[in-house]
Amino acid sequence: MEPHKDDWKWQFAHRITTTEQLKQILPLTQREQDEINTCLGAFRMAITPYYASLIDPTDPNDPIRKQAVPSILETRADENDLSDPLGEMADSPVPHVVHRYPDRVLLLVTLQCAMYCRHCTRRRAVGEEDKPITEAQLQKAVAYIRAHSEIRDVLISGGDPLTMSTAKLEHIIASLRAIEHVEIIRIGTRVPVVMPMRITQELTDMLRKYHPIWINTHFNHPNELTSESARACAALVDAGIPLGNQTVLLRGINDNAETMKRLLLGLVKMRVRPYYLYQCDLSCGIGHFRTRVEAGIEIMHQLTGNISGYALPKYVIDAPGGGGKIPLGYDYVVSRDDREVVLENYRGQRYRYPQPKQ
Ligand SMILES: *Cc1c(COP(=O)(O)O)cnc(C)c1O
Ligand code: SF4
Repeated sequence: MEPHKDDWKWQFAHRITTTEQLKQILPLTQREQDEINTCLGAFRMAITPYYASLIDPTDPNDPIRKQAVPSILETRADENDLSDPLGEMADSPVPHVVHRYPDRVLLLVTLQCAMYCRHCTRRRAVGEEDKPITEAQLQKAVAYIRAHSEIRDVLISGGDPLTMSTAKLEHIIASLRAIEHVEIIRIGTRVPVVMPMRITQELTDMLRKYHPIWINTHFNHPNELTSESARACAALVDAGIPLGNQTVLLRGINDNAETMKRLLLGLVKMRVRPYYLYQCDLSCGIGHFRTRVEAGIEIMHQLTGNISGYALPKYVIDAPGGGGKIPLGYDYVVSRDDREVVLENYRGQRYRYPQPKQ
């Protein structure tokens, strides 16, 4: 790569945000340009030159393209669409904090991302404020966490926290570390996938001062496993940060066992532990990405037993209306009564397990 392309600030500043810029790298018909412009009225676009370089311009169904380039399908309302699909407003005791589970919270520190994923849960309209959390807002959020000693795990999310300056992020992390009952600090970020050059020595040197830090990233397709993203993940893991990954099950992108297997095994090779596979949620304008639940159950069933347990994420639905994550899976229990459990293994063979007397 040319040296300036290795600079994350260059990547961020040169993001593709207009149809004119997109046309320079992808052949677009007039109709496609009109359709993209229509979408941009509702949802914004930003694609780093790095992520755009992973697109095969000759393939209209390219999996990277589908995640990054708007489609007219986004403007079609689906009867199941919800504006707050995870009911996060109801679980927000103070702005920027979502407190749903007993021992952990989300802290939403920015609305900005390096790349705006077409399938995003937290879709934002163009023109919405890009500024990171203000000092006053941060202090209110931190005060809430300090006042609630049951919170032992804080997940810094957004938007993408790694789009902020290292200094600003350090200030947030240090404020949380000063709270005795906060044991674990996690960061949710797609930066290793869409702008891996952000993972600099300056960043890892800062993060390693505040252990235990965990990072969860968001790879969806094996084409995202590049030498650049592998280097970024290695730098984080070498700084002592365990890396997890969440994948969204996306129709026409990764909704088959073969693609999912390449992704999951590739992640493990990069020392990234697959954590969750999400059923696509009910955000507005992403109906065309949703699969049926049977598709996810079938993929997990095909992979279970056939690849290392380490490569298998937990398949979940983040329940609409704020129920939280609920695991889904193939039912390996054929029958269960007082005397015995009859089980099926991954090859479909049956086994009996006699129960001890009560
Ligand atoms: C996903 C999520 C968490 C973290 O949950 P884990 O299962 O521990 O990863 C916390 N709060 C909210 C609101 C979430 O959606
Ligand atoms: S990086 Fe995450 S928050 Fe940002 S657009 Fe993608 S899915 Fe949404």
